[in-house]
Parts: sequence; structure tokens; C-alpha cells
Amino acid sequence: MVDIRGVHKSFGRLEVLRGVDLQVAAGSVTVILGPSGSGKSTLLRAVNHLEKLDRGYVSIDGELIGYRYAGGKLHERPEREVLRQRTDIGFVFQNFNLFPHLTVLDNVIEAPVSALRKPKSEARSSALDLLARVGLADKADTYPRQLSGGQQQRVAIARALALEPKVLLFDEPTSALDPELVGEVLDVIRDLARAGTTMIVVTHEIGFAREVADTVVFMDGGVVVEQGPPADVLDDPQHERTRAFLSKVL
Ligand code: ATP
Ligand code: MG
Repeated sequence: MVDIRGVHKSFGRLEVLRGVDLQVAAGSVTVILGPSGSGKSTLLRAVNHLEKLDRGYVSIDGELIGYRYAGGKLHERPEREVLRQRTDIGFVFQNFNLFPHLTVLDNVIEAPVSALRKPKSEARSSALDLLARVGLADKADTYPRQLSGGQQQRVAIARALALEPKVLLFDEPTSALDPELVGEVLDVIRDLARAGTTMIVVTHEIGFAREVADTVVFMDGGVVVEQGPPADVLDDPQHERTRAFLSKVL
């Protein structure tokens, strides 16, 4: 499970995360909603230590991310340990972030081969399975620029899955897509949810949240304002700020 406790993060004088607590059970889906600037992306980046924390911690299956205790004190982990820890944390970005000079297949096998030292033949055969899973078995030898945005995002999901991560993070995975391509990406994420993949998804797709989330989290001003099952947070929010936000996006 992912355990986020008392996480604080400032950029200069701007306090972006002001004590975030969030627990994500293994096999569950958490959807994070919140206005622009509320700290959603910063929180995801904090989970895999792309942002260093000012206070608080993140642990996954009991292992502190980016830090470790020794001699009763908290120390930063060496970079190579952080890189190893990141292989447990899949990250899917708004803008796909595929390697443009690599084929679809090579995009998917890059991390397992370079970070996990998997033999190429083995990485290739699991990559083909993953591409089939996201509906792109026939695109293995094409380049990202030859694909639609929805297809590129599905490759990015396959690439994240190739590391067999303990948790998958999505930062607005559909917000850069034309509306008619949003559904195919949400369908893939929905299938992953059915298969019991642990996920944290930042999205403005309320319908998706209602259907797929076990927990909906509403963030504002760098804190979790309210969280609970979708039926509570989306249909019967307890906080005025949640109500005001939902009235704008629904
Ligand atoms: P959006 O919905 O627009 O993506 P968000 O909830 O993801 O918003 P963040 O990207 O986490 O918000 O940003 C929160 C605040 O932190 C914003 O005011 C942003 O400008 C600021 N911020 C984020 N990263 C940095 C950085 N590296 N340096 C300085 N300020 C930053
Ligand atoms: Mg963001």
C-alpha cells in the first residue's frame, strides 16, 4: 500500500503541499480532483521522489521512498537507490513523454532492459503482451509520431506496466487528448482497475471517477479537503469548497 503522511512541500515562499495524508490500499483506485494549482501534480511527483519533501514521508509496502532511517535519523537515499525505487512506481504523464526516436516496442522494453536488466528477448515478449493488452499489438514497429494521441497514451501505459510497478500514477492522462480519443484511454485504465492494479489518478473526468474510483480525494490549497467513496464525495460532499468545485466541473 501507498502511505502518504504529513507531506509538506514549498517552492520558495509558496507552500504547495501543506500536510497531505493519504493512504491507498493495494488493488484500489484513488482519483484525485481539485482546482488548478491545488498541488495534485506536486503530490504525484512527491510520491516517486521527483520532488523532495520538506516534511512528512511517502512509503510503499513499508519502504520509505527517497529516504531511509539510519542511526535514528532520516537520510536521503543515494540516487541509484531512488532509481531502483522508481521502478516500483509507474508514472503516466499528460503529454505521453514517449521517446520519439524509438519504436513503440523499444519504448516499452527500454526500462525493463536498462533498469531491470531483463534479457531483451524476454522484455520483448512481455512488451508484445502488454501492447496487446492496450489494443496496440499491430503497432509494435511504428514510431510515436505515426500514432494518434490516444494510441500514444496507451503505449505510455504499456511502458509504465512493463516495470510491473506496485502502483501506477496518472497525471491527467486524458486532458491533452481530443475528446473522441478520451474513451479509449479511460477504457484501458478501467481494465487495469478490474485487474486489481493499484492506481492514483489525477483527472477531471468525473464520470470515470464515479465508476472506477474506490476513493475520491478532493484537494484544494495543498491539503486533502475531503475524501471517501465516490457516492459520498461526488454526490453528497460535506465541504463547501468541494461543492463549489463540483458545481463548476459537473
Ligand atoms: P493543474 O490542475 O493546473 O495541473 P496542480 O493541482 O497539478 O494544477 P501543481 O502543478 O502541483 O498544481 O502546482 C501547485 C503550485 O505549485 C502552482 O502554483 C505551481 O505554479 C507551483 N509549482 C509547481 N511546481 C513548481 C516548481 N518547480 N517551482 C515553482 N513553483 C512550482
Ligand atoms: Mg497538475
